[in-house]
Amino acid sequence: MSYTKRTCHKCGYRDIQPNMVQKTITVDTGSSKAAFDKKSLFAATFLDDKKAGAQVHKSIFANNKRKYTRNKTVYECRDCAGGWVQRSKLGEALHKFDVFLWKLFVRAFWIMVIFLCISFVMSQQNV
Ligand SMILES: [Zn+2]
Repeated sequence: MSYTKRTCHKCGYRDIQPNMVQKTITVDTGSSKAAFDKKSLFAATFLDDKKAGAQVHKSIFANNKRKYTRNKTVYECRDCAGGWVQRSKLGEALHKFDVFLWKLFVRAFWIMVIFLCISFVMSQQNV
């Protein structure tokens, strides 16, 4: 039984994968245009499409920061990764909370739009 060898992202140390700590880092791409269309917004809202949701989320928040990033999986040796696990759990929790709030916001927006449409139609019929 053999394991894949992984190279530490920070110091270049090589060891088998179980001895390494997997880490997701954010890489600055600086070039991608994070634009979203109505189709993505629709998919994010009604189909719970994670990819489309991320695209819409990214386009709004990334445009404010003018920074385009993507995630990359790297490995670190235990020395370099020391203390990192705790921070990553907090970061993960904050990210999940952020996504949760964002989904609530998107749904509330569409419910409001539908409600306005219905009330408009109703008011037309009452004339
Ligand atoms: Zn290292």
